Amino acid sequence: MLVQFINLPLIPSLSKEGKENKIFHLFFVPLSKGDHRGSTMKIACDFHWEMGHRLPEHAGGCKNVHGHSYNMRVEIDGEVQRNGMVMDFFDIKKIVQPLVEKLDHSFLCSETDMLMKNFLAKAKMKCVLVPFQTTAENIARYFLDAIRPRLKKVKHLRRISVRVAETESSFAEAAEEIGEWRNLKI
Ligand SMILES: [Zn+2]
Repeated sequence: MLVQFINLPLIPSLSKEGKENKIFHLFFVPLSKGDHRGSTMKIACDFHWEMGHRLPEHAGGCKNVHGHSYNMRVEIDGEVQRNGMVMDFFDIKKIVQPLVEKLDHSFLCSETDMLMKNFLAKAKMKCVLVPFQTTAENIARYFLDAIRPRLKKVKHLRRISVRVAETESSFAEAAEEIGEWRNLKI
């Protein structure tokens, strides 16, 4: 049975001599059904941004300059803590939102795409250069690699996954195990 300690304040009582005794009360109380401390749960935050890109090596339409309304879901698996949370949603957003803002209304450009790289530099337009082809798969991995180091030291977390959707019907997902859980499994 799951129990928790209730550490009540010291309760004064009077002895026969009239002196005040301090009595320490320790109770074993069953955890309520709503207390999921220690259980593994998944939490998630969604993010959204607009961005231009192209895939120069694509045989079809993706080689042309175009854009998407990207949706991204960052999921984190971990153990519920004493405060009832795996992690504060605010803290996830604090890590991820600046990364999203860096890309929002930019053109994500492969460093090897000299045509676009030179054009955007000359036009002084917002451009983010990356060392990969700007597919949904690589963007998911880009975010995972940026977020993971910030969570590495949070011992009760187990897994992070990043799902990037270019359209309503297609997405790519990158995932990795993190924290002490990963070490235990090795
Ligand atoms: Zn595209």
